Amino acid sequence: MASSLTHQGISFDDQELGFSTRAIHLGNGTDAETGAIRRPITLANAYELPEDPSDINWSSSDTNLYTRNGHPNQRYLEAKIANLEGAEDAVVLASGVAALAATFTTVLNRGDHAIFSDTTYIAAYRLLHQILPEKYGISTSIVDSSDPANVAAAIRPNTRLVHIETPANPTLKVSDIAAIARLTHQSDHEILLSVDNTFNTPFNVRPLDLGADIVIESLTKYINGHGDALGGALATTKALTDQVRFTAQVNYGGIISPFNAWLINRGSVTLPLRMRQHNASALAIAKHLEENPAVRFVAYPGLESHPHHDVAASQLARKDSGFGGVLSFGLNSDHDGHNRFVSELNVITSAVSLGHDESLIVFLGEDDERQYLYPEVFHQGFLRFAVGLEDTDDLIRDIDHAIEAAGI
Ligand SMILES: *Cc1c(COP(=O)(O)O)cnc(C)c1O
Repeated sequence: MASSLTHQGISFDDQELGFSTRAIHLGNGTDAETGAIRRPITLANAYELPEDPSDINWSSSDTNLYTRNGHPNQRYLEAKIANLEGAEDAVVLASGVAALAATFTTVLNRGDHAIFSDTTYIAAYRLLHQILPEKYGISTSIVDSSDPANVAAAIRPNTRLVHIETPANPTLKVSDIAAIARLTHQSDHEILLSVDNTFNTPFNVRPLDLGADIVIESLTKYINGHGDALGGALATTKALTDQVRFTAQVNYGGIISPFNAWLINRGSVTLPLRMRQHNASALAIAKHLEENPAVRFVAYPGLESHPHHDVAASQLARKDSGFGGVLSFGLNSDHDGHNRFVSELNVITSAVSLGHDESLIVFLGEDDERQYLYPEVFHQGFLRFAVGLEDTDDLIRDIDHAIEAAGI
């Protein structure tokens, strides 16, 4: 079965097989030379040229030429990502930020305007708030996109892109993708909607099905799932991926390494299994935290107390989808109390990132440069907790113990 479901053999729009079957078989195939049923890692930097190379377009990514122009391990992973997102095509780059930068720099030209969510990954904020306006003459507006009316009010005649992150890192605000897509598509000029779907992954939410034009993933997080490789992807139309390959990949140089593409392809095989566990464990822990008097607030879209719970629920792609593995919470304590709590944890690791097998927690203090954009409860310092795949009971015991040991 595997060989008929290869990059070459399966059509990009084949959605008939289940998500797990596709996550396993897409991008894999039999190695033609050895018959191995796992595709190899192709590490060569260059490929043999035809007898007369004078007709070659040296910026092409269609043929095997030079690894920065595109390589087999990248293409296998792109076939899987495009299919899981329901896109015509996908480009896999060196990191999530490379995919964000590729999207912004490909879509936006000097004189254009972009609208973006008030909570986004820090690099998206810096690119759209500072670097692109200062260096490239692009104007931008920050809006609270959890209310689509704010997006509508910010649209200008030269608006070309709306970029939203949902759920947002680290406030867990949720935006209504379908409502915002209706707004951008009703506009009398072309506006593209890009969605950073890193927290949800296509297992929980498929933004393109809801009307978005571009979906962006940090593959570093859940899609790889093992905390050992950086990668990023954007999935959209072939017309746009062609432009992205020409600019961001070949000429800005943001290509992923063959080894990382191979690792992410392997990690992504278990994405559905892992997401079910992340979803279930995070919901159980969010509910547990909400009942603890030492906890000042919990932000998790799966809780009924979350202000955008209904919108989040309406976006779920499948019966077994959930609300992801990341939650933020604050303790009834000060700066030092939060740090004491973290130092008392035995199972949960204090580190940035998310979507790994192990649970990761990070104290985000009161000095974040974007704090003025966050809801009030986030202003006294809080913890972003990426719930891992450990036994839920062990995580709950670890938290309860650390709250007590920290004297909160
Ligand atoms: C981590 C993250 C990114 C950046 O991804 P990298 O792979 O670290 O470059 C972008 N968006 C979100 C929501 C993230 O959590």
